[in-house]
Amino acid sequence: MKITDDVFQFKIPMRFNPLGYTFCYFFSDSGIIIDTGIKARDAYDALEKQLSEVNAKITDIKHIIPTHFHGDHIGLVEYIRSKSDAIVFAHRSAVEKQKEEQKIWKDIPRLTIDEINMMGGGDITQIFGRLESTIRPPPDPLKIDNILEDNQILRLGDKKLNVYWTPGHAREHICLYDAETRILFSGDHVLPKITSHVAMHIWGERDPLNDYLTSLQKVRDLPVDLVLPGHEYNFSNLAERIEQLIIHHKVRCEEIIDATRKGEKTIYQISSRVSWDSRPWPQMDFWTKRMAATETYAHLVYLRNKNEIIENNKEGVLYYKLT
Ligand SMILES: [Zn+2]
Repeated sequence: MKITDDVFQFKIPMRFNPLGYTFCYFFSDSGIIIDTGIKARDAYDALEKQLSEVNAKITDIKHIIPTHFHGDHIGLVEYIRSKSDAIVFAHRSAVEKQKEEQKIWKDIPRLTIDEINMMGGGDITQIFGRLESTIRPPPDPLKIDNILEDNQILRLGDKKLNVYWTPGHAREHICLYDAETRILFSGDHVLPKITSHVAMHIWGERDPLNDYLTSLQKVRDLPVDLVLPGHEYNFSNLAERIEQLIIHHKVRCEEIIDATRKGEKTIYQISSRVSWDSRPWPQMDFWTKRMAATETYAHLVYLRNKNEIIENNKEGVLYYKLT
């Protein structure tokens, strides 16, 4: 789909993901591509086909800028690079994150079990075998050719893009803003309908929800006419959408505080009392519950750091209660 004279939106399919597709954005004059889609044959074919529809080829891609390093955004980076001279741009934190991932990868099965125990998810030793078999060797870290900084103005050809580091959904997430056309490329930071997954793991040392809420403020007041996201559909009411997201997390925090009112509870117990958008807790499968629990944990860490709740570690299980 043509957005402006030289910016095109490509829809890259993602067959086994309910989101259905990832958007990537191709700048025909300067050879920039923002995001790429998953690593799959049909995704690559879709990219080539849509490039040809705008009279371009893979070799015309000179600059790859993933908004963040999740598989649905970086999946085709290596394919593109194997056929072109494209260089990759990413925020500084992506380098650090890739290094850490390589280091902990072999411990992931054990860390996952520890985490589920710590969250009060019960004994999962019976699925240990299955869990280990789901862990594949670590992906090779992507070679990052050009490191981006927060608030940097990136000049590529005649394009000028403002880089905003927006950690939260992913630590290395960036949004790109074109002041000339008043377009924000929002990645998965701000989506029009769904709320981005903000998760916390026991091996993370940060406060991703606090990061996320701070990152929302960072882009809220930009003079924007059009937001081009990583999924769903394009929209224009950026400030209003960000207000909705802030309220969503505020309501979620209130629900969580409510759940801890009558005595201390584990993360899984608290998660079972949250009203989830996707489906009610009892209908979730094991992995969906785990995703939900990591999201609850992000909220609990945020509330704990604000001294609204107390965390207690009792024999390896975390419990939360009101201060
Ligand atoms: Zn995504």
